[in-house]
Amino acid sequence: MPPEPDCRRCRLGEGRTNLVLFSGDGDSKVALVGEAPGAQEDIRGIPFVGRAGKILDGLMAEAGLDRGRIMITNTVKCRPPGNRRPKADEMTACRPFLQEELKGKRFVLALGLSAAEDLLGKRMVMKDVCNRPMRVDLGHGEITVMFTYHPSACIYRPAAKDVLRDALKAAASYL
Ligand code: URA
Repeated sequence: MPPEPDCRRCRLGEGRTNLVLFSGDGDSKVALVGEAPGAQEDIRGIPFVGRAGKILDGLMAEAGLDRGRIMITNTVKCRPPGNRRPKADEMTACRPFLQEELKGKRFVLALGLSAAEDLLGKRMVMKDVCNRPMRVDLGHGEITVMFTYHPSACIYRPAAKDVLRDALKAAASYL
């Protein structure tokens, strides 16, 4: 079940305009998990529609991945103030909703460290785990999970763009 419209499970509920639930196909076998809604997402209630979303859209197009055929979501459903990273207790509070969204997936791509650490439940160094598929139990049995760069990381690092594009191609192969 998605969060109640007036969800106050954590402090992020106090500042949000809209809950940002998943977009795309809820029954898709593939999900992308970002960090948290930003300003545009908070206004529109849709994940990845701001600057990072434009980058993601471009790379998805290059990878042959159609937004309508996958699920796109975030670790938390409310915008953290000032676009700070979500805190561990906020991700924990929102985790049941993410877990429910990811039920039935075959492949989950975590975009950035927040998503990676939320899904794996431990700290990590992106370059050590980047683009290496792993079998992980996210609550409904083992599935393939990959960790990669967040689209925002591509703004100043062209190399990250190539890595993210490759990860999106891997995601496309699971459709
Ligand atoms: N927009 C989102 O929905 N998630 C992010 O992680 C960044 C921007």
